[in-house]
Amino acid sequence: MCDEAGTHAETVASIPRPAQGAAVDPIVLEPVDGVLITTLVDNSYDALMADSGAAQRMPFARIPEVAAPQFVGGQTVPGLVAEHGFSALVTTRRGAITHTVLFDTGVSPDGMATNLERLGLDVGAIEVVVLSHGHFDHAGGFPGLARLRHRSGMPLTVHPLVWSRRRFAIPGQPGWELPTLNRSVLEAEGLEVIERRQPSLLLDGSVLITGEVDRTTEFEHGLPYHDAWHEGRWEPDPLVLDEQALVVHVRGRGLVVLTGCGHAGAVNIARHAMRLTGEADDQRATRHRSDVGTHVDRLGHAAQRRAHLRLE
Ligand SMILES: [Zn+2]
Repeated sequence: MCDEAGTHAETVASIPRPAQGAAVDPIVLEPVDGVLITTLVDNSYDALMADSGAAQRMPFARIPEVAAPQFVGGQTVPGLVAEHGFSALVTTRRGAITHTVLFDTGVSPDGMATNLERLGLDVGAIEVVVLSHGHFDHAGGFPGLARLRHRSGMPLTVHPLVWSRRRFAIPGQPGWELPTLNRSVLEAEGLEVIERRQPSLLLDGSVLITGEVDRTTEFEHGLPYHDAWHEGRWEPDPLVLDEQALVVHVRGRGLVVLTGCGHAGAVNIARHAMRLTGEADDQRATRHRSDVGTHVDRLGHAAQRRAHLRLE
């Protein structure tokens, strides 16, 4: 119901906008031997789900107990925290060398950090943080990260528009301004902010961050009723141009593409990854891309369903 633009201005603003210049320059993405993606925060969690293919789940029994005086013995099994938002740890392997990227941080200050601890993961292995875009449900977990890392230095790769003020202006509902990221506070936490609109190769070239995504499809309109503060007034901002995806080329298997909200559209993102890397002819790549999920926001559901059908 909500994937159609609401106003004329929004319709104009959601017209496909191809990225320009260096944002679409080809990049040599050297293959890795393997990639492990660990979901740290997602909208749902089911501790009773069984492993499935390559997907392994963490059962209750393997998560450390916590104090709970209402139970005999004074402990319980807490499971993992699910919250509206997304965060994933991406570890690539080439030979004996591994590299680890934190992609998004969830919505609450400590949810992602709590799950890192409950999963027994080594926060010291994180070499760089990447934000898929500036929305608060992907950038909420920095306080927890600082708690675990004690403000040790680390690069943070973002698109320059992540600092934008945004709001939802849904007809019939009061407007709601989203929390806006504060660069100086992130820098005070020890993060070295790197702004790039163009693609970036990270960690010995094992990970590609797309930068701004080429918007070429006629059916992916972005996020309706979403505004940005621009030159003293609110303007339609359905395209969320700060959205960027993470791409890994797994040797013999093709591309793995990970997105946050996916406001740029699954097909736009897949096309852009293929254009940047020159992996356009690898049919296996398409299958693997469609396997890696997108965190889809409520307002974009219908459009994303169409996009997934086209990917398949
Ligand atoms: Zn978003």
